[in-house]
Amino acid sequence: KIFPGDFSGNPMQRNTPKVLFATIDPVGFDHPKLIAFNETLSGEIGLGKFEEKDLDFLVGNNLPENIKTYSTAYAGHQFGNWAGQLGDGRAILAGEITNNSGQKTEIQWKGAGATPYSRHADGRAVLRSSVREYMMSEAMFHLNIPTTRALSLAFTGEDVVRDMMYNGNPQNEQGAVVVRTADSFLRFGHFELMSAQGEYKTLQDLADFTIKNYFKEITSEGVQKYKDFFENVSRRTADLMVEWYRVGFVHGVMNTDNMSILGLTIDYGPYSMMDEYNLNFTPNTTDLPGRRYVFGKQGQISQWNLWQLANALHPLIQDEKFLEDVLNDYGSYFWESHDKMLCKKFGFDRLLKSDEQFFTNWQGLMQELQLDYALFFNQLGKYDDQADLKTQFENVSYTFLDDEKSSKLEDFMTNYQLRLKENEISREQSLDLMKKTNPRFILRNYLLFQCIEEINDGKTEMLEKLTKALENPYEEIYPEFSVKRPSNYDDISGCSMLS
Ligand code: AMP
Ligand code: MG
Ligand code: MG
Repeated sequence: KIFPGDFSGNPMQRNTPKVLFATIDPVGFDHPKLIAFNETLSGEIGLGKFEEKDLDFLVGNNLPENIKTYSTAYAGHQFGNWAGQLGDGRAILAGEITNNSGQKTEIQWKGAGATPYSRHADGRAVLRSSVREYMMSEAMFHLNIPTTRALSLAFTGEDVVRDMMYNGNPQNEQGAVVVRTADSFLRFGHFELMSAQGEYKTLQDLADFTIKNYFKEITSEGVQKYKDFFENVSRRTADLMVEWYRVGFVHGVMNTDNMSILGLTIDYGPYSMMDEYNLNFTPNTTDLPGRRYVFGKQGQISQWNLWQLANALHPLIQDEKFLEDVLNDYGSYFWESHDKMLCKKFGFDRLLKSDEQFFTNWQGLMQELQLDYALFFNQLGKYDDQADLKTQFENVSYTFLDDEKSSKLEDFMTNYQLRLKENEISREQSLDLMKKTNPRFILRNYLLFQCIEEINDGKTEMLEKLTKALENPYEEIYPEFSVKRPSNYDDISGCSMLS
């Protein structure tokens, strides 16, 4: 269904009732320049190696006749409030590509110009945010976490004006386009929009389409099909949250328009990997008074978001008791998966009743001693009980380990070793479990910052090294990247000026 009306070259704010999209062409850029191309992904989705002539396509220039490009409309709850209609404001879809095994992948440009859903914004993206999306989505993929992916990163050759949060002055920045891919970019917000507008027929078509294409495990019919769908989305969302907790990923803007219906990590904005463990950490400075989207609340917020999805799907399900039961069970499912995940990080072969208390004590210790989340678990795997404890954890903590703190750490390690004795697997198997669960490399904010500075200066050495490191996150390819954040970058860790 193509919405009647010609939008080409004339994007304007539009409502598109009864349909979820509007056709729109990328603006095109005269002097694009490639920064990075993901050859592995290209092969996987059925495209070949990069050739010079492909650059035009990667920024949306001179598209072949048979490609009909479009942007989608969605709605959303932003920071807890209903925001009404939103939509792809700077994303334009090129449609799907099918690889040799019949697998389909959606391809879209981010930053290729305004769309009918841009509202008052420009539809452009700057280098900073584009590098961050390109790098982090690939880092998440290689950590084995469900995510949208990135095929290419290119300069548009045009400058974009942005207000800088930290000084309030507008500044010119280089524009960039990322080509990103996913099985589907559908969000909770797409369902919310149809429901809010009372477009129940389209809502049902959308649910049928989504289930048929992306939820092959659902075989039921009628109302049961939509119930299974909601349960499935809830399950995938909980699983994703547990994975974020495993590696210390903080999304930063978990609005329902940024929640993938497939349970993918989507929309890389002011996200950050967490350096020192802090349940209250958010990299998003616009969320500072409210701290809605802090690390420790991501599980709870995902459940709140699922309440909104439940409201949206209610017209198809019409069974409040069922929806409430799924939502109420969400917490126990989430916590059990979460605790099982923590067991793996610690090298425990199974979850014991006493572990809940152990984990609570551990959280207190992490927070008080300002221990680096990733490095702490790497150090546990290398721990030598014959060597000096303080020396082993000095480079893992962001505070001075005085006698009191050291003795708390010592008590914890004594408990930890007692707990390890409950394992029915060997110490080697336990260490192996830890190695597979705890990344040796995480893409820290300060590393991205350095990488962006370099690209601004026309250099790509850091980009290449980081790419290699993020492709092998369970190994330590560059030891200099597996250290705690240098103190001169303390301000960077919680700064959304990066996005
Ligand atoms: P976000 O908080 O990044 O998920 O964005 C919220 C909404 O604003 C989405 O609908 C985006 O498409 C839109 N948006 C963000 N940045 C831009 C931009 N530069 N131009 C147009 N729309 C934008
Ligand atoms: Mg978004
Ligand atoms: Mg965004």
